[in-house]
Amino acid sequence: MIRVKRSSAQNLARLLRKTEMKFRVGLGHDTHRLEAGRRLVIGGVDIQHDRGPVSHSDGDVLLHALIDAILGALGWGDIGEWFPDTDEQFQGADSTQLLEEVVKKAHAEGWQIENADCIVFAQKPKLSPYKQTIAEHIAEQLGVDTDQVNVKAKTGEKVGPVGREEAICAEVVVMMLRS
Ligand SMILES: [Zn+2]
Repeated sequence: MIRVKRSSAQNLARLLRKTEMKFRVGLGHDTHRLEAGRRLVIGGVDIQHDRGPVSHSDGDVLLHALIDAILGALGWGDIGEWFPDTDEQFQGADSTQLLEEVVKKAHAEGWQIENADCIVFAQKPKLSPYKQTIAEHIAEQLGVDTDQVNVKAKTGEKVGPVGREEAICAEVVVMMLRS
């Protein structure tokens, strides 16, 4: 059994009250169907591939999951409420600009992103050559250092919609801080 010293817990509670630092955690998930001959953008970076997402916007699965994670952390609903896919102005929208809008609002309310942990699920192409560039692009948008953004890539093990290259998915967890 793990025993936590009562005094340590009390000290931590006192410290948190004193600093009035607030923490929020958010989770985002997104999926797009893939079709041949479409542009593939992941995390704001153009990826060379023979297929890409079917989407009203640019279909950036990773930025959509990230936006949802930030909105979720702050209790601000979801990406569909902010940028409806029925709205003409978001036809072919650059998701980096959508992220920028959400981050600007978060900063205006005093929230900073502490870190983002991201996973992209795609059978192809191999994303390892792009991971660093994607992390740098996202870090720049969030106003944080590159080591505060982690990008992981998984295949679908050749099973399911991802494995059969019918879909691409992403999941993101963010921690937000307000001091
Ligand atoms: Zn999406």
